[in-house]
Amino acid sequence: MAKVCIDPGHAGPTTDPGAVSPYTGLREADVALSVSLLVRSYLCAAGHEVCLTRTELEQPETDDLGYRTQFSNDWGADLFVSLHCNSATIPSAHGFEVWTSPGQTQGDVLATRVFEQIQGEFPDRYGRADYSDGDPDKESKFYVLVYTKAPACLIEMAFLSNEEESCLLADAAWQDRMARAVARGITDYFGIVGGDTD
Ligand SMILES: [Zn+2]
Repeated sequence: MAKVCIDPGHAGPTTDPGAVSPYTGLREADVALSVSLLVRSYLCAAGHEVCLTRTELEQPETDDLGYRTQFSNDWGADLFVSLHCNSATIPSAHGFEVWTSPGQTQGDVLATRVFEQIQGEFPDRYGRADYSDGDPDKESKFYVLVYTKAPACLIEMAFLSNEEESCLLADAAWQDRMARAVARGITDYFGIVGGDTD
């Protein structure tokens, strides 16, 4: 059994809602929490230990990204997975992305498994991949990816700024499929690297 830290992006409607859909009013912070809670339930059912960096709809202290990374590091997480929704000024922008910190790390192994599971669950959705380094994840020095000790990835599930995808993000069944895909990606990762079995 492994210790997985799930990080629902943004702090809540008042403190930091993240992106907001111009079509549905749906807030990124709320979607991220809903899906994170589902991921937790699937991983717990698979025998893993799971902590969320934010468990309430509004949790102002989580507006500090250092709070999130320290939370994960202090707990001794074996993995860190952050969940977000994307947004762009061009309404046609769509698809999902999985991000890691620059360079080849265990985070890339994790991100690849997660990307493949999301693509497998949603063959009709566009995976915004960057194969320039041989794997599909994109890379950036996002704070939560750089300052977590555990292998980490950040998932942009879909675009709230895209009308079709903002409706998908609001759909409970779609959220559940996304959560199961993410959980499968995580368990695939432990299948490859070998989980701590005590
Ligand atoms: Zn975000």
